[in-house]
Amino acid sequence: MNEYDSNKIVELMETISFQRIDKIDEADCFIFNTCHIRQKATQKVYSDIGKIKKIYKNKKKPIFILAGCVAQAESTLVFEKSDYVDIVVGPQAYHKLPNLIKKYLQKKMKFIDTNLNVDEKFDVLKNLVNKKSSISSFVTIQEGCDKFCKFCVVPYTRGPEFSRDHSKVIDEIIALVDKGTKEIILLGQNVSSYNYNGTTLAKLIKKIAKINSIERIRFTTSHPNDFDKELIALFGEEPKLMPQLHLPVQSGSDKILKLMNRNHTKSDYLKLIDDFRKYRHDIQFSSDFIVGYPGETEKDHLDTINLINEVNFTMSYSFIYSRRPGTPASEYKTIPKIVTEKRLQQLQGLLFKQQIDFNQSMINNENIVLFENKTQNDEQFFGRNQYMVPVFIKNKSIKAGEIKKIFIENANRNNLFGKIA
Ligand code: SF4
Repeated sequence: MNEYDSNKIVELMETISFQRIDKIDEADCFIFNTCHIRQKATQKVYSDIGKIKKIYKNKKKPIFILAGCVAQAESTLVFEKSDYVDIVVGPQAYHKLPNLIKKYLQKKMKFIDTNLNVDEKFDVLKNLVNKKSSISSFVTIQEGCDKFCKFCVVPYTRGPEFSRDHSKVIDEIIALVDKGTKEIILLGQNVSSYNYNGTTLAKLIKKIAKINSIERIRFTTSHPNDFDKELIALFGEEPKLMPQLHLPVQSGSDKILKLMNRNHTKSDYLKLIDDFRKYRHDIQFSSDFIVGYPGETEKDHLDTINLINEVNFTMSYSFIYSRRPGTPASEYKTIPKIVTEKRLQQLQGLLFKQQIDFNQSMINNENIVLFENKTQNDEQFFGRNQYMVPVFIKNKSIKAGEIKKIFIENANRNNLFGKIA
């Protein structure tokens, strides 16, 4: 979602004659669009501000804007931590940047805006002209979260659940199609909870699938409790809906799931996986795991390992638990690093093996690949198969946006390599 927001910020800045540039030492303005989900990301923001400060030590100071979830969470504290920052703007208020910059240039005062008015944001964003063409495009349809998992900052930084008007979503997609988009990835912190006056995610996908030029539809990220029957069945009914789903589970231990306030059990999750497979037998899953959540014992960890073995994931994100200020779990006693690191190693070893095994199972098979662009090596083209795995082929005649059957010859953990079938 930060990638989507960052692109929108660039488009907003163009409305006041700013341009994105590549040279770090020639900017009039810096905007850091930040992530607060893990402590490391937050720390990096301040060390990167320090780097910029150094570069501009003997030059005119650029306007410095801190946007995104760190800005939202730390609010005025940002100015205390770094006097280099001029404007602080939260993820639901960045549409006001053109005005805030104008005001800053007139008054040379520091400004902060961390309002959570999502409706107003999308009203402004809808007027932006999308200039960039991208074969695969993100479209935010939902923001915020009401689930309050005890480790997570999202309900505090993105605010309550909000679903965009489906007609405005369709307008945005049509504008993207005009620029060459073939694949839509619908975004939301809780995308499956999307509901705009009765139009659920399943109903929205059905509308999008009717747009001729759209070949592929995906969505991310979902909470396991938000799937209705219609959405599960859609995987078997709608060929444009790709058979790959990111479905975070975080832990395979019922005790830990309860401590996290996830409101589902391990067996609920496994039942959901089975339900999907009933409708689409080749559907594949990726997930998120938190290792060493406060209270996690060796048995809880093994429950997670067992769940991974039962599901067989094609790709996953796994991290050692990171305490986030302001969340209930931040008060809990943490587990020693020596234990969590060992558990992470074991868990990732298994996840990586599953990922390699899955990719290698593609060798000598045909994949349907949507090609997106050339790589730096001019003769190599990049696309993704139906399961979202990157596929590289050496072929000069491929064009961006083409869908081809590719015979897979080789595979590593992250990529597949092949030739036109
Ligand atoms: S459902 Fe996801 S976004 Fe919401 S609180 Fe839980 S982890 Fe965070």
